Amino acid sequence: MKYSYFHKEQKRAIKNNPFLPQNLFYNQEKDFYVCPMGQRMEKIKEAKRTSSNGYEANVIKYQAARCEGCPLRGMCHKAKGNRVIEINYRLQELKDKAKKLLNSELGLAHRSKRPIEVEAVFGQLKSNNKFTRFTLRGLEKVNLEFGLMALAHNLRKMARIIQNKGNNTLQNRIRSFITHFFERLNFIKLKNEITNHFRPVLKFAA
Ligand code: SF4
Repeated sequence: MKYSYFHKEQKRAIKNNPFLPQNLFYNQEKDFYVCPMGQRMEKIKEAKRTSSNGYEANVIKYQAARCEGCPLRGMCHKAKGNRVIEINYRLQELKDKAKKLLNSELGLAHRSKRPIEVEAVFGQLKSNNKFTRFTLRGLEKVNLEFGLMALAHNLRKMARIIQNKGNNTLQNRIRSFITHFFERLNFIKLKNEITNHFRPVLKFAA
């Protein structure tokens, strides 16, 4: 799955920006960074950061020793004192892993399908149907709720095809689709309720 900034990171302006922390040289053995002016940025402390959704992360801070009088200062940072960078190694590790997969042959093949197979459906569900939040909670119930959305989406597509072209095999396809969907329902109670609700459709497809 793409993380935020994945596309931004691929841009030349970001890749070639020597001031960004991810582009600074890092000496792994002695654990220090080197700034664009060639100055060592030493580790000063470890800290915790909590995101807006409550997720805690460990970061390590590195600081340059003397930024005063540096000719690159205007381009490098706006802080009053010496430049400090924060590195989240766990996040970096996960991002590197995701980037490798996304840029692999298989990843590229999957990504090329996404605009064709997924985006149009998301657009229909989220923007046209205003389905931006699940109303049920728990994985099983969410699966069920999304299944219903998908069912409605596919029935609408099929109805449009029937209306436009007319096709004898479509009745069979609708029947097999509905049968498959109901086979996957785990909630017996809800299954009964939904079966009753869709009885007219099932009759039509029988
Ligand atoms: S401002 Fe400080 S951190 Fe930035 S290049 Fe100059 S010395 Fe290095």
